[in-house]
Amino acid sequence: DRHPEPQVAPDPSKKTLVILGTGWGSVSLLKKLDTENYNVIVISPRNYFLFTPLLPSCTTGLIEHRSIMEPIRTILRSKKASVKYYEAEASAIDPDRKVVRVFDNSDVRGAVVETEVPYDMLVIGVGAENATFGIPGVRENSCFLKEINDAQLIRKRIMDCVETAAFKDQSPEEVDRLLHMVVVGGGPTGVEFAGELQDFFEEDIKKLIPEISDRFRVTLIEALPNVLPSFSKQLIEYTESTFKEEKIDIRTKTMVKRVTDKAVEAEITGPDGKKEKLVFPYGLLVWATGNAVRPVVQDLMARIPAQKDSRRGLAVNEYLVVQGARDIWAVGDCAVAGYAPTAQVAGQEGNFLARLFNNMAKTEALEENIRELSGSLNLKPGNAAEISRQIEDQERQLRRIKDVKPFHYSHQGSLAYIGSEKAVADVSWFNGNFATGGSLTFLFWRSAYLSMCFSTRNRLLVINDWMKSKLFGRDVSRE
Ligand code: FAD
Ligand code: NAD
Repeated sequence: DRHPEPQVAPDPSKKTLVILGTGWGSVSLLKKLDTENYNVIVISPRNYFLFTPLLPSCTTGLIEHRSIMEPIRTILRSKKASVKYYEAEASAIDPDRKVVRVFDNSDVRGAVVETEVPYDMLVIGVGAENATFGIPGVRENSCFLKEINDAQLIRKRIMDCVETAAFKDQSPEEVDRLLHMVVVGGGPTGVEFAGELQDFFEEDIKKLIPEISDRFRVTLIEALPNVLPSFSKQLIEYTESTFKEEKIDIRTKTMVKRVTDKAVEAEITGPDGKKEKLVFPYGLLVWATGNAVRPVVQDLMARIPAQKDSRRGLAVNEYLVVQGARDIWAVGDCAVAGYAPTAQVAGQEGNFLARLFNNMAKTEALEENIRELSGSLNLKPGNAAEISRQIEDQERQLRRIKDVKPFHYSHQGSLAYIGSEKAVADVSWFNGNFATGGSLTFLFWRSAYLSMCFSTRNRLLVINDWMKSKLFGRDVSRE
């Protein structure tokens, strides 16, 4: 369905729609948007869409990172009308002058590195950054798990720790430290990563480097009384008992207070309410304690008085319009619409905006038609009956289209991989909910994520990676 001759010059009769970001929210919008109605400009520092649900699998090489990336240029090429893409970061948004300040933050820079892009309509889908709560040492010493380069860094570090532990004359204490993998945050990111890591160890590292095999340990630290707080009680218990079998050490009610280059310092609250200090020496530390607001979003919030009480992102109304702003919409993790920051929510919000914008364009076209037809009524009195019939028809269509219902999120369920080919699922089914965990759920998890992959190309690459790892093991070479 490629368009042979995309139109390149912006059409002055159309509004300019600027979309920030190439993640779940923005790309879902782009996929369904009729780009012929607007001059569309996409701005994002990442020139690809990333299928985040399989990112934890990239940290161990079970899945190769390029299998879950889809270039934005390929996505845009299939649109009917041409869409401009700028690889840049939005550094500030001026809602009064209706311009976005953009900055080329890539390694290769031309003579122009910073400029302004004017908009008539703006969609903000910049996602969120990693929360560290200002805890000392976290930024300098942790790996995060949000982007492709994070997963690549973790993959490299795991093998670096393993090879350094296997180095000649390494002391037993140092081997224990290097092979201690600490994960902070027991949300789905931390849990899935811990599961993948233990699999990697059991299925590959243990066989390849048996001399250190009894020293490898994974510890998951969580401040709350249990992991996966958003899942049902039954699945939390299932996850915790599976982790016990997998020998992953879960430390709940344990709050990290400080991080150094070799140890995590935490505070645990005992059953009697007494606090105790704990130190976890580590080789690899992965920090997964959720989301924080990006600076560009914080800056915009500070410019809009109606956003002064917003903390977790841009407060939006039921049509995803940023409260207190004109012609600005927000989707996904940077928007606060009353839902969890998930791909599922971001995707549905993007789809909703596409429908809204397609409808707005159709509305404008119908209104224009009605105006023209009404004007011709006096000029062609002989055709009055036919013209009136056409006007009525157009007005009927207009009423139907104008009646856009507010955004409503439909929760399809939550899924998480917990290691040793087991997964947990809280699924909505025929207006009911059911919770399930185990190996069958794992097959369901795999098929669900496979069907959600962006393209057939991605799907084939992911299947190929799964088969390759099953047959030959993961590739442990450290790039
Ligand atoms: P993102 O997908 O993060 O996209 C943000 C985009 O904005 C990116 O392209 C980024 O480069 C760009 N950007 C950043 N800064 C700027 C700027 N200044 N200017 C312009 N562009 C900018 N959710 C689920 O529902 N199911 C799952 O299984 C699941 N698994 C996950 C696994 C992991 C490891 C992680 C980290 C998250 C997972 N999530 C999952 C959550 C999900 O990925 C997010 O909720 C989702 O990505 C949010 O979509 P978004 O479009 O708001 O942001
Ligand atoms: P999260 O916010 O879901 O969990 C972070 C956890 O870190 C919390 O349980 C919190 O109590 C804990 N924490 C915070 N500070 C701490 C400290 N100092 N010491 C110890 N623990 C601390 O974060 P996430 O797992 O990155 O997920 C972010 C979003 O992405 C969520 O909405 C999640 O649902 C979604 N997601 C979904 C999936 C999935 O569906 N499979 C996978 C990954 C992420």
